[in-house]
Amino acid sequence: MKKPPRILIVEDEPAIAELIAVNLRHNGLQPVWAEDGANADRELEAALPDAILLDWMLPGQSGLVLARKWRADARTKDIPILMLTARGDEPDKVAGLDAGADDYITKPFSTQELLARIRAVLRRRAPVAVDETLSVGELKLDAATHRVTWRAQAVKLGPTEFKLLAHLMRNPERVHSRSQLLDKVWGDHVYIEERTVDVHVKRLRESLGAAGAMIETVRGAGYRLSAHASTGAAA
Ligand code: CA
Repeated sequence: MKKPPRILIVEDEPAIAELIAVNLRHNGLQPVWAEDGANADRELEAALPDAILLDWMLPGQSGLVLARKWRADARTKDIPILMLTARGDEPDKVAGLDAGADDYITKPFSTQELLARIRAVLRRRAPVAVDETLSVGELKLDAATHRVTWRAQAVKLGPTEFKLLAHLMRNPERVHSRSQLLDKVWGDHVYIEERTVDVHVKRLRESLGAAGAMIETVRGAGYRLSAHASTGAAA
């Protein structure tokens, strides 16, 4: 059985932390509670969680300071952070996102809303399985070695192009809108423009050479990777 995702709750109010923990546990998640930044750091030392629920107002280091610190640390920088803020604190939300939080949720929140947000960050984070190998037509991608080949020739790709191609190869022949690609490949969020997707698709096509034609533009809809696209005669 798969291990339940671990969620680190950094919250100084025991009643709120307990309520969240009970709800997470009921929904197949494994909560770990830390009442302040120092305790959270100890938990992070011991084991990395799959996501962090971070209260804004904490004794000692604030949620904002902690989010910045964890984002700057190579070990913790990829853990999704959901910031818990007080109602109507707009500047807080903006500052929280600036500090590197992936999302925020306003207190008081419903359990359903909290779970939906947590599931969303966990889904966006779902890593490429390390032993995954994908092939579409004569294009092959090996996630373990980070290698891509086209007709047995190595193709060099940047990290974003690699992730983009892996996503397209996992879902061939399907049309992906720009916003879907942003969500699945970039993992969040509000400040990346959809045009960014076009830029990386263009780079990916260029890197792929003749195989670049496999990535089709579907007008008004998005992009699709097709094994049936014309990429020239087989070698
Ligand atoms: Ca608090």
